[in-house]
Amino acid sequence: MKIIGITGGKGGTGKSTIATAVAVELAKRGKKVLLCDMDADCPNDHLLLGIKRKQTCEVFQRIAKWDLDKCDNCGKCAKVCRNNAIVCVAGSTPMFMAKQCNGCGACVIECPTDAISWDKKVVGAIYKGRGFGVDLLSCELEISEPVSEIVVAKACEIIAADKEQYDYILVDTAAGTHCDVIAALGVCDAALCVTEPTPLGAHDLGLICKLLLRMNIDFEVVVNRYEAGRDEIIDARVSKYGKHVFAKVPYSKKIMTDYSNGVPVKHKSIEKIAAWIEGSI
Ligand code: SF4
Ligand code: SF4
Repeated sequence: MKIIGITGGKGGTGKSTIATAVAVELAKRGKKVLLCDMDADCPNDHLLLGIKRKQTCEVFQRIAKWDLDKCDNCGKCAKVCRNNAIVCVAGSTPMFMAKQCNGCGACVIECPTDAISWDKKVVGAIYKGRGFGVDLLSCELEISEPVSEIVVAKACEIIAADKEQYDYILVDTAAGTHCDVIAALGVCDAALCVTEPTPLGAHDLGLICKLLLRMNIDFEVVVNRYEAGRDEIIDARVSKYGKHVFAKVPYSKKIMTDYSNGVPVKHKSIEKIAAWIEGSI
């Protein structure tokens, strides 16, 4: 069993397009594949594969709750809350804004009268589905909730519990190099960095290369929407990290049409990536 991250730094480079295409290619080769959509803010692998997902569990975060009968209006809880989730006007009971609370616990520790304890709120959900011979696990953050790491952490727990059922698990991360991406890559044995031949793509690719090297995760680089003569910028960037461009998926009308119609991309580069994951390259 091998877990491969599909990442890349910049948003909109086609990580999900490549992840879904490679998952389908591996399934066609008779492999048991789990595709994990870890872009909790904006999951779309199910849309690309036309999979109807079913919610399998909600994801909760702890938040503070008050027993105002015990409160002496001292205001200490508001002073320690770095998220400005508590407002105390002198002499009156605290007002709590649950959306702002990240469950850090500072107010619970600080309260001299034990007026604050724990409650929980729903911050997201995990969905599952299946299509094209691929099992899909998809995490999704509630609208207006700010902390997606909790949902990603729940998905990582599910991967840890289910991983022996699969030959390959593909982890399609969010864009960027923030905590969600680090948590998702933390379960991976290797990664594919998907980029585009633009200055923005090259810049953000450099950031994700640095992160992967720091995490000691081996990786290969895929240029999506490749056009002849436009990839020098990517070659120059990856050579700084001792890498070369491993595969190129062209900018073509056929691929764009398939993408629009929910048909997984077919191309020799996708076959090459699948062969690399299988260990035959
Ligand atoms: S648990 Fe932390 S974030 Fe939530 S209200 Fe208390 S101090 Fe603020
Ligand atoms: S710290 Fe405790 S006692 Fe003081 S205002 Fe907050 S809830 Fe009330």
